[in-house]
Amino acid sequence: MNLNIQDSFNKELPADSIRDKSRRQVTEACFSYVTPREPSNPQVLHVAADLASSLGLLDQDLESDMFRSVVSGAAVLPGTAPYSMCYGGHQFGHWAGQLGDGRAINLAELVHDNQRWALQLKGAGETTYSRTADGLAVLRSSVREHLCSEAMFYLGVPTTRSLALSLTGDEVLRDMLYNGNSAYEKGAVVCRVAPSFVRFGNFEIFASRGDTVRLKELADYTVRHFFPEIKLTGKEAYIELFKTVVDRTLDMIMHWQRVGFVHGVMNTDNMSILGLTIDFGPYGWLEGYDPNWTPNTTDKQHRRYRYGNQPAIGLWNLSKLASALYPLVEERQAFEDVLEDYKSQYVNSYKKMMMSKLGLVEQVKGDDQLIESLNEILVVSETDMTIFFRRLSSMVKNDNIGDAMNKINDAFYKPDDIVDSVLEKWHAWMKLYLSRIQDNASSDQERSALMNAVNPKYVLRNYMAQLAIDAADNGDYSLISELYELLKKPYDEQMEADKWFAKRPEWARHKVGCSMLSCSS
Ligand code: AMP
Ligand code: MG
Repeated sequence: MNLNIQDSFNKELPADSIRDKSRRQVTEACFSYVTPREPSNPQVLHVAADLASSLGLLDQDLESDMFRSVVSGAAVLPGTAPYSMCYGGHQFGHWAGQLGDGRAINLAELVHDNQRWALQLKGAGETTYSRTADGLAVLRSSVREHLCSEAMFYLGVPTTRSLALSLTGDEVLRDMLYNGNSAYEKGAVVCRVAPSFVRFGNFEIFASRGDTVRLKELADYTVRHFFPEIKLTGKEAYIELFKTVVDRTLDMIMHWQRVGFVHGVMNTDNMSILGLTIDFGPYGWLEGYDPNWTPNTTDKQHRRYRYGNQPAIGLWNLSKLASALYPLVEERQAFEDVLEDYKSQYVNSYKKMMMSKLGLVEQVKGDDQLIESLNEILVVSETDMTIFFRRLSSMVKNDNIGDAMNKINDAFYKPDDIVDSVLEKWHAWMKLYLSRIQDNASSDQERSALMNAVNPKYVLRNYMAQLAIDAADNGDYSLISELYELLKKPYDEQMEADKWFAKRPEWARHKVGCSMLSCSS
């Protein structure tokens, strides 16, 4: 295995001077050295081969003992110094103090084709930042993280990636629903990959401690390696950094809204400074379109992180990042202007995104109303978001309302229960839409192609991941591979896989893992 290892984070930034794993507050340092815990019986279950080749790994490398040992935590790459990062965060709206990589260990960075990649194990044992927890991860959450990271990538959503999923051979005790019913589950590790795993919280921790020296070092490091387009210096560079992070964060969230992804735990420690989707925990996919939906049972009461609230939370989180960077700039107005911009940008990007989902290019009068009324009827008739938008691309200018309604009938969870008043609203909307596409210059074919490139046919529905988990728990890993292959081409028809283009089955409606998830993983 010949990897071009070029560590930067642990070479250029200050390290914790204590080298043991004792759990404690770490000050004046960006990270602590730790080594992965040796798994008792490691077994690599799945490798994302395309990602591996982007890292410069050859096919034969993936079969090597070294590769298998490194991705499961059994061995450390020669010449590297693994570490966990120190960060803080606002959790559910409140400052939580030091958090840090409680179960993530950064192995090394490598550069391939001019792209820097950091490799990180999640679930490889305790670290300085494990607080009261064990540093481990279970199979169910690891399958979910592995499959979803890659699915998001192929959907075109900015995201951290997952190279490999392994069983550790160890048992992990978890109280899945926090209801006093603990049970042993299979332990697992994912090897995550991203240019950098730095989060908003990495900056917040230094600001909270008034440590402007380390704050500046981290900000300079981040700009130097990950925002080379920023040519400004001094205060202007930090404002520009903030602006870029705002743009990227908004772009990421807009992609989430487009594909119906609900992150579930948008705490500031789970916000990547690169605008990547990070930390796949109690996430979920909208099935019935419902802006109030959240998969996270821990957040059921306030629904802070519900689908429809994600853009607003993005702004809230960015305001916390602004406060963290403030000591480097000391000009409140500069940050406020950028945050103000987010609001208007959001309105425009949302419109643009919805227009593309509807296959409309130029915005005309009435389109706002078309989008608004669609949002209303999608909710009242329990409509599957993915199926609805995908089917909408098959409309042709010659369709009458009856034809059109037949085409989307499959998207309704309970078509027979739709009351007349709602049906009337649907007819009215469809009439508007049909006349809108009739006036449109683009042909049916052109519009359909445009729509099928932004409305996926296949997403990792919550029950699909659960089926893969149940099978894996019984030693059958074939569904993990099958779903991975399917989700590599989410916009293709893939007629042979049509069974996955289907509404969530009724058994999954209230099942744990399908509609109910917690942070316990
Ligand atoms: P989350 O919101 O799930 O991303 O986690 C919040 C914090 O808890 C992070 O600092 C994690 O590293 C830490 N954490 C979560 N699960 C564990 C675990 N099993 N062991 C140690 N730390 C954990
Ligand atoms: Mg996290």
